[in-house]
Amino acid sequence: MSSSAIIEVRDLRKKYGQFEAVKGISFDVFPGEIFGLLGPNGAGKSTTLEIMETLREKTSGRVVIGGFDLDQEPASIKKIIGVQLQASGYYPGLNLVQLLELFAGLYNRDIDTRAMLALVNLEDKAKARYKALSGGQKQRFSIATTLINEPKIIFLDEPTTGLDPQARRNLWELIAAIRKKGTTVILTTHYMDEAEKLCDRVAIIDKGNIIAMNTPDVLIDQLVASGFEKPKEVKQANLEDVFINLTGHALRDGD
Ligand code: ADP
Repeated sequence: MSSSAIIEVRDLRKKYGQFEAVKGISFDVFPGEIFGLLGPNGAGKSTTLEIMETLREKTSGRVVIGGFDLDQEPASIKKIIGVQLQASGYYPGLNLVQLLELFAGLYNRDIDTRAMLALVNLEDKAKARYKALSGGQKQRFSIATTLINEPKIIFLDEPTTGLDPQARRNLWELIAAIRKKGTTVILTTHYMDEAEKLCDRVAIIDKGNIIAMNTPDVLIDQLVASGFEKPKEVKQANLEDVFINLTGHALRDGD
């Protein structure tokens, strides 16, 4: 195994009954990378993510995170990772400061709630209840909660699904800023533009297998080198460019 990797996954398999959802995948993630797991629905992305997060049992294979073997030291892994909760995990009636203090208590950490909210651009929502937030604000808040224990690695499962283009771009900036501080980021996404802009490397998963893994640039160059041509001439802009050009980059989710 490569000793410089912060995550090492070898021949990982997961069966649900007779159905094998993950069919022996192997990959490394290196410190400070943004690594994307891409693939259609049902490919096995969430299963893989949840196994790494220690939230789901694997059937076989080896997972080593931050030097800790998942089979032997899952508690040590939990201490160095940050995991996004599902929205249902938040008490809707508490305000953001109260929620952060609650999580900090669970992690046994003292945190500067204001600084944490500022990091995700939610300072002025400190006294707002979780349920009063827009979709983009909820996502930013959930990313803040992954950072409470100052993790080495954060896992983000479809962080921008359901957001408008402005909120998505804002999230990309946030994720890039978190990585700049040295945190390794593993994310899943259905958006190829997102993966292309944000990820240093991606693994494309289909039916439980990794069918390609590299930088987005190399994968695109390989496709072009294989003789692939776009069916029609590419325009200098797309509809999303039109939308952003007309409506601006500024956030529209209430701040
Ligand atoms: P993805 O995140 O790529 O959409 P998942 O990891 O959620 O894929 O699911 C992979 C496959 O495993 C799918 O066919 C899904 O139906 C199946 N699956 C996921 N969770 C369970 C479960 N708890 N029990 C049975 N099958 C499951």
